[in-house]
Amino acid sequence: MLKIDTHTHIIPKKLPNWSEKFGYGDFIYLQHHKKGFAKMMRGNQFFREIKENAWNPKLRIEEYSKFNTQIQVVCTIPVMFSYWAKPLDCLDLSQYLNDHIAELVEQFPKNYLGLGTLPMQDSELAITELERCKKIGLSGIQIGSNINDLNLNEDRFYPIFEACEKLSMCILVHPWNMMGQQNMQRYWLPWLVGMPAETTRAICSMVFGGIFEKLPKIRVMFAHAGGSFLTTLGRIEHGFVCRPDLVAIDNPVNPRNYLGRFWVDSITHDPVLLDYVIKMIGSEKIVLGSDYPFPLGDLEIGRFIEDMNLEISVKENIFFKAPLEWLGVNSGRFTD
Ligand SMILES: [Zn+2]
Repeated sequence: MLKIDTHTHIIPKKLPNWSEKFGYGDFIYLQHHKKGFAKMMRGNQFFREIKENAWNPKLRIEEYSKFNTQIQVVCTIPVMFSYWAKPLDCLDLSQYLNDHIAELVEQFPKNYLGLGTLPMQDSELAITELERCKKIGLSGIQIGSNINDLNLNEDRFYPIFEACEKLSMCILVHPWNMMGQQNMQRYWLPWLVGMPAETTRAICSMVFGGIFEKLPKIRVMFAHAGGSFLTTLGRIEHGFVCRPDLVAIDNPVNPRNYLGRFWVDSITHDPVLLDYVIKMIGSEKIVLGSDYPFPLGDLEIGRFIEDMNLEISVKENIFFKAPLEWLGVNSGRFTD
């Protein structure tokens, strides 16, 4: 069966020294300190160690073949977004990352599809780069769950979403810049608690802000099975009903009506939860995801889904039908 992993991260082996080039800021750079490993550095601060499978496309294809997965949808690592930088500098950096992914897609068209990154802090530049991403063969974009702490319903982002709909570019909303992280550094809480909350924040902002109402054809996928949105939807809906004066101020439609309007990935690490997600939004809206190559990801690329007692049609939806629909790609691309 065709398997498309819609949520994976990649980075070029070599990054320019942007801090030096732009003359400010703690832009990420890589220290290749030993064979097969690199340290991601933010300024002088160590951020995370990555392995060769974060940049080597052939090694990745080999590793994926062990899990019978032919296609990886790649995007950058959220810490690279650099929305805090000066807009033109972020554009420069985004173009570098996007060109790298476009080259990869061109070189391995049967194994890779790509999502770009945009200078979201400047809507005009973001749209210019979005149009370029389309031209260089990317299928969509990845954006953060907030943009410099602004929620995605802010008016300034609307033209970007509108352009995505017009250009038929899909969107992955990825948690990052986690709320409250300064107050919960211990126990990896920004990743374990902050990330699911961030994704919920993004979905609620887009739903209550009426983005899905105004742009019926927009194709958005939320990471990590939608964070804690689906498991707290009862509370969210109840809040909408009992305090419309607080919640329904920009969009009168019940949030539950948007189930099936957007996609989420399968990264739950829990068959019981995935079963619930299937019941909530249907397998047509769940796409295989892994968060490869990072340790918190599902690094067996959906093996737990294969082991679940699911109808073959449900597995087909998750493994390739829903991914193709979200991406707006025809399966012929991989079989011809
Ligand atoms: Zn991720």
